[in-house]
Amino acid sequence: MSAPEPGGRNGPPEAPESSVTRAVNWEDFREHLATATRDGSRRWLYPKRPSGRWYRWRTWMSWVLISIMFAGPFIRIQGNPLLMFNIVERRFSILGRIFWPQDGIIFAVAMLTFFAGIMIFTTAFGRLWCGWTCPQTIMMEMVFRKLEYWIEGDSQAQRRLDAAPWSARKVRIKLFKHAIFLGLSFVIGNTLLAYVIGTEQLFHIVTDDPSRHLVGLGFMVAFTLLFYAIFARFREQACTFICPYGRFQSALLDENTMVVAYDHRRGEGRAPWHRDQTPEARRAEGHGDCVNCHQCVAVCPTGIDIRNGVQMECVNCTACIDACDDVMDRIGRPRGLVRYASLNGVQRGEPLRYTARMKLYTGVLTALISLFLFLVLTRADVQTTFLRAPGSLFQAAAEGRISNLYTVRVINKTRSDLPIEFRVEDLPARVVILGAPQFTVPGNRLASTSVLVEMDPAKLTGSSTKLRIGVYSGGRRIETVKTAFIGPHH
Ligand code: SF4
Ligand code: SF4
Repeated sequence: MSAPEPGGRNGPPEAPESSVTRAVNWEDFREHLATATRDGSRRWLYPKRPSGRWYRWRTWMSWVLISIMFAGPFIRIQGNPLLMFNIVERRFSILGRIFWPQDGIIFAVAMLTFFAGIMIFTTAFGRLWCGWTCPQTIMMEMVFRKLEYWIEGDSQAQRRLDAAPWSARKVRIKLFKHAIFLGLSFVIGNTLLAYVIGTEQLFHIVTDDPSRHLVGLGFMVAFTLLFYAIFARFREQACTFICPYGRFQSALLDENTMVVAYDHRRGEGRAPWHRDQTPEARRAEGHGDCVNCHQCVAVCPTGIDIRNGVQMECVNCTACIDACDDVMDRIGRPRGLVRYASLNGVQRGEPLRYTARMKLYTGVLTALISLFLFLVLTRADVQTTFLRAPGSLFQAAAEGRISNLYTVRVINKTRSDLPIEFRVEDLPARVVILGAPQFTVPGNRLASTSVLVEMDPAKLTGSSTKLRIGVYSGGRRIETVKTAFIGPHH
């Protein structure tokens, strides 16, 4: 049986003659970006539609993540949003727990945990995040790009359409595509806004008199245009130029990190596949399994050639793995010329290893996660500050007692309204809340009041006596705070 021919039904595909791969001298990849010409202007990419098992898995994964992303602002845990970052009111909800600026330590630990998590994850798995879970990649490759294939066709059809003179058909297609892109950007922009201000506020802006929500509507338009610009024009440049993650990966990757890698030992020297050529004969001629078909380049959404090694632009999207596996299937060679592997895996055939560096990072990460959980789970539902009113001294009160005036602020981190009362622990004293018979702090709100504490001067231990104030709600002590009571000199 004869070997399949390049470009034939079962043979390896021929390199796409008019693709971007032909427009670039791939030897000078170190000197300029694949998406830039020598004069620095943008080189528009037309990546070929990927297909294969990795692409199928990524598609499934993307549907799950897209569903979570759009449903996120509507999911409630104990009435609070699953995630909300209300910068305006400085309230944040993580996993249904409302955090305040006063919870700064928890927020700091959460940030540390997040960055440590990124470090260990990147050290072990490279840019798995970018290819599989990053919202930018998912929306670009799994939503906008698929819509583009659906409307304009695969890469060659897109290229032809762009090169063609303007006609009624071209205008129709372009208008249709950009209208869909704009509509989708509007949905994404509103979803982001819902994460920032909450769904209730968003619905309020949408349904209320527009003139009363000019700022909110301004953000709505700005987010829509921003996402439209990113997904319609900026595209892979966001990963290459804006995202810092790709930049610091070079400091985190080592020879044991899992990356999308080309097996140069097996693939070089690259040469076209000839009819009737056996692998043995090919080896004898000094050729490897790479048939130089450029299919891995043609599908790459960042326009790079994975055969040049790990590159900053690579978002580990696996499209080149699928493309190369397809070529290997056609020429009857084992899959995996391009695959998930470490540098050691490619050069020495070593399996992926859990190194000492990864173990150290894991230890740090485990400690941080434990600390974060401890802080979250032991966080008090109420936070009270009980401070003497500025500039005030003691005053004479009824029945020979003396009084101090305090300013009290209570943050209620629960969803329920809390009626609050204060009692001085250990010492006989009377506590009077000024202004209202009852002090109630609404759920998820901060309230302040003024409080008078009256004491018998004989009970004081000096000119400044330490007090422990119990904060009670419904007869139950929920917090104890400390303050000082000023009296006359003894
Ligand atoms: S690595 Fe695979 S897909 Fe890329 S040029 Fe070589 S054979 Fe073709
Ligand atoms: S080199 Fe491969 S994995 Fe990296 S971005 Fe291009 S197609 Fe995706």
